[in-house]
Amino acid sequence: MSLTFDHVTLGQRVLFGTGAAAANLAAEVARLGAERVMVIASDFETGMARTVAAGIEVALWHHDVVMHVPLETAEKARAAAAGAGVDLLVCVGGGSTTGLAKAVAMTSRLPIIAVPTTYAGSEATNVWGLTEAARKTTGVDDAVLPVTVIYDAALTLSLPVALSVASGLNGMAHCIDSMWAPRADPINAALGAEGIRALAAGLPLITADPAGTAGREQALYGAYLSAVAFASAGSGLHHKICHVLGGTFNLPHAQTHATVLPYALAFNAPHAPEAQARIAAAFGTTDALTGLQDLRKRLDAPQALADYGFTADGIAEAAAIILPAVPVSNPRPATTENLTRLLQAALTGEDPALLLDL
Ligand code: NAD
Repeated sequence: MSLTFDHVTLGQRVLFGTGAAAANLAAEVARLGAERVMVIASDFETGMARTVAAGIEVALWHHDVVMHVPLETAEKARAAAAGAGVDLLVCVGGGSTTGLAKAVAMTSRLPIIAVPTTYAGSEATNVWGLTEAARKTTGVDDAVLPVTVIYDAALTLSLPVALSVASGLNGMAHCIDSMWAPRADPINAALGAEGIRALAAGLPLITADPAGTAGREQALYGAYLSAVAFASAGSGLHHKICHVLGGTFNLPHAQTHATVLPYALAFNAPHAPEAQARIAAAFGTTDALTGLQDLRKRLDAPQALADYGFTADGIAEAAAIILPAVPVSNPRPATTENLTRLLQAALTGEDPALLLDL
């Protein structure tokens, strides 16, 4: 990789401590001088949010969270924030909840404190997403980057093992895809590699001991790094594929990323020797795909898109939408034929190694 690059580091405070979310939130609200706090958390996440917000005064609770942030859901939250004279947004939950806070910040320019409870990583990016008439649009706006992220591994203890694995591999996908994304550079590659190492260490600890915090701390740390790398490097081939599968075919976010990742890696690795060597080194293996697949086997990771609602009828349409979105930076030139092959393999859970010699 050339040492001529143009890198932007996003400014954000990160407070990391197991069992410390409530104290950290109270200190941050005081530091920011906020007086009218809106807490966003889905119905399910509200129990966690009440614990986290125990030390602050809350002017408005908002629970109407919907995956992929439909515009109507965003408009309701924006109106509620304006009506209550809110001066700070606090979101406690997964990527969908963080996404709703970002939608409010986009128009109101209010600051966000994010308290994530999954490994999706939205809290560390300046990317927003909204869904209108079944089409998901995303954009970049520094106003949606949370000013502070509060990580507390205790909040992820309730995340079931299967969802922890899928969500953690969503983070792994940010790391791996960053290696060949449009703005890949030595800084985001270093962050991505450390994210791979932390997630590969943490996720097996979670499956071995779901009630312990050691693995969950590693996974949260890895998830943060993955998101910083992704925000800096941009969306590569893997994210373009998953964006179409989620947006057009309504497949579940984390599981789709977890399933497609080995196929995207096998597709690109032989054409990106430097990235493949870096990924392999982060896994502690000589080959990147072997490192990922060994980990996925230990985790009993999602295997086939067919298990999440995708069917062979969707392949031609998906390939047609993905093809023009593939970044020019992608190491292997994409064609309708090779994308179709990738999707066929991911549909049924074929051995991804078959794509290496496409
Ligand atoms: P999610 O937020 O939809 O959460 C999945 C489910 O897990 C929900 O039912 C939620 O209530 C539940 N949950 C959350 N925390 C839990 C916990 N600790 N214990 C038990 N259950 C818990 O899913 P996600 O994967 O976190 O986020 C996906 C969304 O985030 C997608 O819309 C995706 O596009 C977005 N995203 C955006 C960015 C970005 O940079 N803008 C990055 C990553 C993901």
